[in-house]
Amino acid sequence: MALIVQKYGGTSVGSVERIKNVARRVAKWQRAGHQLVVVVSAMSGETNRLIALAKEVQPNPDPRELDVVASTGEQVTIGLTAMALKELGLKAKSYTGPQVHVLTDSAFTKARILEIDERKIRADLNDGYIVVVAGFQGVDEFGNITTLGRGGSDTSAVALAAALKADECMIFTDVDGVYTTDPRIVPEARRLHTVTFEEMLEMASLGSKVLQIRSVEFAGKYNVRLRVLSSLTDPDLPIEQEANSGTLITYEGDKAMAMEKAVVSGIAFSRDEAKITLTRVPDRPGIAYQILGPIAEANIDVDMIVQNVSVDGYTDFSFTVHRNEYAKAMDVLNSKVKAHIGAREIVGDPRICKVSVVGIGMRSHVGIASLMFRTLAEEGINIQMIATSEIKISVVVDDKYMELAVRALHRAFGLEHAPA
Ligand code: ASP
Ligand code: MG
Repeated sequence: MALIVQKYGGTSVGSVERIKNVARRVAKWQRAGHQLVVVVSAMSGETNRLIALAKEVQPNPDPRELDVVASTGEQVTIGLTAMALKELGLKAKSYTGPQVHVLTDSAFTKARILEIDERKIRADLNDGYIVVVAGFQGVDEFGNITTLGRGGSDTSAVALAAALKADECMIFTDVDGVYTTDPRIVPEARRLHTVTFEEMLEMASLGSKVLQIRSVEFAGKYNVRLRVLSSLTDPDLPIEQEANSGTLITYEGDKAMAMEKAVVSGIAFSRDEAKITLTRVPDRPGIAYQILGPIAEANIDVDMIVQNVSVDGYTDFSFTVHRNEYAKAMDVLNSKVKAHIGAREIVGDPRICKVSVVGIGMRSHVGIASLMFRTLAEEGINIQMIATSEIKISVVVDDKYMELAVRALHRAFGLEHAPA
């Protein structure tokens, strides 16, 4: 017998018919002898509808009250899911986040989970209940309702799995797993059977939006075995088949992980980036701080940063920001930084993108960077910036080459074939 947390997203509970299918799938797992905690999102479109409603009343909604409104979608689906389970003759009980003490900080609309009191859930499980818990919501120490940020039900599920020390957290969604890259760009992209938390974080932060990033961080921190799989398959699919479907996200030492030993796991990318360069800035202590301090104060996130070696006491300094913040960043630099530090020029390009090769195998393999750079060279793609980490090499290239770069790299690393 295993304790399993299953999370069903908005599409998976998008209609009464689908909720009934969720119940059938959950029933199948319980009948096989497992204990089930089910976390659900609101019906698809519902959270958007609630937020829009709030904005009709107050264009810039009060965050506390917005959470009161936005959290209600999940209360509907937990009740309906519990009812559907009862219709199948099973014992089921629904709880809101506050009812099971999903304690969060007070950062309305983007709260972080601090603690969950799992005792009530455990007692119900031991009494033979299927426990259905609302995703996305919690309560702060003062009793205020909070929400965890869009897509937050993934994090609710992982946090529950961690608190209950569940054997696995299964995230049922409308895609059937994590791919080597976006199949819309590379039709030969392959579903990964396994991927490590670290790789998944790199892939997710680079735009593969299968899971809320925070849920992956959480799973890595508490070592929750996490699986992403499809909820669009036949709910009566045999358990053995379903248990091995999708993509397992886990740590390197996991038995399942040892099976697949690709050096590179995927090609990630993000469009919507912009590059800014300050030329001929004096090379002395404090300069990076004087450039990026005002940027941080303006709440602009900086991604890649590159500073050249200095020649005659001067250097060039480049960094990237999200394209939406490009104009604001240029403004800050021109008004607060340029004259102050004595830079010659501030130049920028809002039409760049970032393409990355990701894989833990890089730690023990040489030649990944050279294959990457050779591939881009053969396609005539100019590399504007390079950044590396232990498990990732990222390059900035002109926007118009993004798809070409992703396709060429996917082919060069043989990602369309399963590793031997
Ligand atoms: N219902 C919430 C949202 O749409 C949470 C979730 O779906 O995970 O963002
Ligand atoms: Mg969702």
